[in-house]
Amino acid sequence: QPEPFDVLIIGAGAAGLMCAIEAGKRGLKVLVLDHAKKPAEKIRISGGGRCNFTNIHAAPENYISQNPRFCVSALRRYRPQDFINLVDRYQIKWHEKTLGQLFCDNSSQDIIGMLFRECERAGVAIITSSEIDEISHKDELFRLTTSRGPYACRKLVVACGGPSIPKMGASNFGYRIARQFGLKVIEPRPGLVPLTFSGPLKEKLAALSGVSQEVEVRFGKVKFREALLFTHRGLSGPAILQISSYWREGEPLRLNLLPDHDLFALLKDAKEATPKQELITVLTDHLPRRLAQFIVEETGVDGRLADLSHKKLQAVAAMVNDWQVLPNGTEGYRTAEVTVGGVDTDELSSKTFEAKKVPGLYFIGEVVDVTGHLGGYNFQWAWASGHACGQLI
Ligand code: FAD
Repeated sequence: QPEPFDVLIIGAGAAGLMCAIEAGKRGLKVLVLDHAKKPAEKIRISGGGRCNFTNIHAAPENYISQNPRFCVSALRRYRPQDFINLVDRYQIKWHEKTLGQLFCDNSSQDIIGMLFRECERAGVAIITSSEIDEISHKDELFRLTTSRGPYACRKLVVACGGPSIPKMGASNFGYRIARQFGLKVIEPRPGLVPLTFSGPLKEKLAALSGVSQEVEVRFGKVKFREALLFTHRGLSGPAILQISSYWREGEPLRLNLLPDHDLFALLKDAKEATPKQELITVLTDHLPRRLAQFIVEETGVDGRLADLSHKKLQAVAAMVNDWQVLPNGTEGYRTAEVTVGGVDTDELSSKTFEAKKVPGLYFIGEVVDVTGHLGGYNFQWAWASGHACGQLI
């Protein structure tokens, strides 16, 4: 019989490592198992290799969950400044890029190195390349059969993330464990993901590939103001990634391509002041040329302002200020930065992350039905949930 660990954590990612550090510091005997060859691969590739490790504005409003209050306790216990303090202790250089997003000056490897060093200091063991075949629970012990042999533990923490980017070792193993123990899982779907289109619109958008514009995008009551990027596959850029986490198939998005201007008012004024001006000239004063051309073609309105009725100007303005587009899908888990949905928060304590029905079993990080906006919020959730669990387990 293997000697049981106090805490065994499945997944050496952001949440799992943070939990291991905190539990290890308390003198608990901690093991982290990961099936990937290298731990923390998502941290390595994050933020374009520079890891957007937190957001100074992180607050419950930045998270999507069936229960929007679930994240409050952990986020309060461990704030962005707490992680910044840790980063500063390791003299890792960082900068704010935009909108409170903090990135490493050098490389995401700095963050990984810091977490490994902290694990070492806390006496945490990490074993990679270990496939977990089976988990059983009896006499207050969890037993795992793995490709590296059997393990036992008193507390089992599931920190294996969501299925986004399967080629990085992501899996839906966490949901399988939840279901095995009778816990509900909110249907997972890709989030922070580019949107795709079909039919004639697909070709037209592809022709705009490379064009970018600051927009306001809306879905229902949710809106974001950030950059939109046209790509040969559809729409992307921060604005689209953000709204993709809310978007539901079959429903249109609304785009305001000129959020600072009421285009109809602007066109009417221009018509009075400079009636001989071409519509396309006015549009290109405010929009990239290719996008302006596309609007003229889509609306079929073109020519000198003097020759265009208010109704026609209104049609152009409507497309610019309130363009409804109907995506046919997303690029899926292949490129999604996160997974929306996951282990139902009703099943877990928001303080400790322990499953209410299964004492000793915990879920933290992205595997839980809490998903952050783009901009460092997802790591802050991983750190905060890992920290709370590690301190209270
Ligand atoms: P993960 O970090 O995904 O860790 C899960 C671990 O579990 C992995 O090591 C995995 O190998 C392991 N695992 C999975 N299945 C098994 C199994 N069956 N058995 C054993 N081990 C298993 N968020 C930000 O806040 N800022 C960013 O800049 C940012 N950039 C991103 C860029 C990309 C391209 C992607 C894909 C995501 C990005 N994210 C970013 C999101 C962020 O990476 C995740 O939200 C975060 O890593 C989740 O942490 P986690 O510990 O819950 O899961």
